[in-house]
Amino acid sequence: MSSTPPIKRIAIFGSTGSIGTQTLEVIADNPSMFSAEVLTAHNNDTLLIEQALKFNPNIVVIGDDKKYTAVKDALASTDIKVFAGEKALEEVAAMDCYDLMLAAIVGYAGLRPTLKAIDSGKAIALANKETLVVAGDIIMRKAVENRVPIIPVDSEHSAIFQCLVGETRNRIEKVILTASGGPFIGRKPNYLVNVKREHALQHPNWSMGAKITIDSATLMNKGLEMIEAN
Ligand code: NDP
Repeated sequence: MSSTPPIKRIAIFGSTGSIGTQTLEVIADNPSMFSAEVLTAHNNDTLLIEQALKFNPNIVVIGDDKKYTAVKDALASTDIKVFAGEKALEEVAAMDCYDLMLAAIVGYAGLRPTLKAIDSGKAIALANKETLVVAGDIIMRKAVENRVPIIPVDSEHSAIFQCLVGETRNRIEKVILTASGGPFIGRKPNYLVNVKREHALQHPNWSMGAKITIDSATLMNKGLEMIEAN
């Protein structure tokens, strides 16, 4: 006799973003499988309130302290607990009220809550690739130590993950990833010494915008500073 699996309680860190709102659509379509237990936003109190009233989570966190009163007042007639500030994101990440964190905060702000969730033994669905850019070795080591699965949600990572589903590890000799080489293909190492921002932005095939193209390097530096400070 098959029994119905329990509802998986999801904490969406970054629920007001593109990934977060798409995740809520999946939850809305599958109420017997998932519930939204934690929702977080940084500035967008209006959407956070709207989501909270629709999904009735256990907890919401608004990153910007100045928006706390607006969110608290709007949810006063509900049982939803409201927290604010960067520290609250970490505290909530360590709580028992959810099973899986969807890590969809953009940038390195997502790093600390994700580390807390891993330390608390929570499964992670990782959209935020920046977390791996700034602290991939720490994240993966902690995940192994805590026996926490990291499920890649980001496009390319998820594609590789899905290719490997059903394969045993010893059947795979290599995973080969191809890349265009971007604006630097064929350049000699001594050319790269003097590379400027404008050169990095001259991608031959597409324009992803300065933010995505340049931010990884900035993020890596910020992440390293943050890790050294701890
Ligand atoms: P968005 O910019 O749409 O959303 C970001 C989310 O993070 C929002 O909820 C935002 O809140 C919140 N946020 C922003 N800054 C902070 C902060 N300092 N502290 C706490 N919360 C913050 O991003 P996406 O949803 O597009 O992307 C999320 C992650 O997923 C990124 O790491 C991205 O690289 C990755 N990704 C995205 C894909 C996509 O198709 N969009 C595809 C694959 C990966 P608020 O709305 O209040 O500002």
